[in-house]
Amino acid sequence: MTLRDGKTSVYMDWNATALVRPEARAAVTHALEVGGNPSSVHAAGRAARALVEEARGHVGALIAAPASTIVFTSGGTEANALAIESAVVAGARRLIVSAIEHPSVLDTANAQGVAVEVLPVDANGVADLAWLKDRLTAWDPADGKPFVALMLANNETGVIQPVAEAAELVRAADGWLHVDAVQSAGKIAVNSRALGADTLSISAHKIGGPQGVGALTFGPRATLARRQHGGGQERGRRGGTENVPGITGFGAAAATSDDLHNQAAWRDAAAERLKAEGCVVMGEAAPRLANTLCVATPGYASDLQVMGLDLAGVMVSAGAACSSGKVKGSAVLAAMGQGDLAACAIRVSGGWATTEADWNTFVDAWLSARQAARRRQPAAVGA
Ligand code: PLP
Repeated sequence: MTLRDGKTSVYMDWNATALVRPEARAAVTHALEVGGNPSSVHAAGRAARALVEEARGHVGALIAAPASTIVFTSGGTEANALAIESAVVAGARRLIVSAIEHPSVLDTANAQGVAVEVLPVDANGVADLAWLKDRLTAWDPADGKPFVALMLANNETGVIQPVAEAAELVRAADGWLHVDAVQSAGKIAVNSRALGADTLSISAHKIGGPQGVGALTFGPRATLARRQHGGGQERGRRGGTENVPGITGFGAAAATSDDLHNQAAWRDAAAERLKAEGCVVMGEAAPRLANTLCVATPGYASDLQVMGLDLAGVMVSAGAACSSGKVKGSAVLAAMGQGDLAACAIRVSGGWATTEADWNTFVDAWLSARQAARRRQPAAVGA
């Protein structure tokens, strides 16, 4: 990829945001040219409405959800909030959220003024379903129906969660399962209904669409609350004129999105080269997204790695996508009991335009960056 300053760089931070697909860019431009407010009854309004509804169909198809159950939002964060707030409005008084949820789930749950319990994960970052089963068996009906949030794939490690099994437990307890599939859509097949999700969130910018648009689908057992009052858009669930260009771009990205299985062999080859240098792959024994590598180097701080790679034109991140820029140990890795390694991990993630050469360039750059760091500050670089 060529940056604005003309330097060639390798972008390996697709879990933070994917590069926009050409089809999505063209669709955004087209929507801007069409103009019109989807609520207007005249021709321009009808044209805008047609774009929104076509996109709704594409987004629904990506996650095997009927178009009528797709609510467009401003992104994954708002889609998660809509699910959690709806459960609380419906009477949930105690929320169970997995320890590795994105802050848009964890922090939103904690802001509801109801009790929150954390579903633990094992050392590979997989949710402990035995814990969940015991907890649901002992559920006090005074807490309302159980609400459980379990993401489909983790943004930092790529570890895929046993969501369908969790859904069976939640359903047996007559509860509500919310699935954050923001990192999964476009990377693995996501069938919201087969998974047993009552609500499931996705985000356009993780699949090659524009930033600032997402969606929530809801099943027959979930009742959605009204998140924003206003003009009654999105069937009254979210007032406000629709983000027509964003939604149209989202639809185009959904329609062209493909899984990323080709990345697995390239990612694994890169991992082997790093393991030979003493690095540790996080969640290696669990099923993972093919595009994601979370790797820790004992004694080599994450921020030093990210900066060293950046100097070489390779972009990766330390910790969670949305906390890139803040330098602190990863809460996800801490929940996995990875202790000191949590502050020495980087996340490398590929996407639809990533090649085998990009993965190799990343490892070459990492080896040089570590050598340079060792020369500057031998004590600060372990392994
Ligand atoms: N959920 C997960 C797992 C994410 O990785 C992210 C973004 O990094 C979000 C939710 C938030 O999505 P958005 O940036 O569209 O608000």
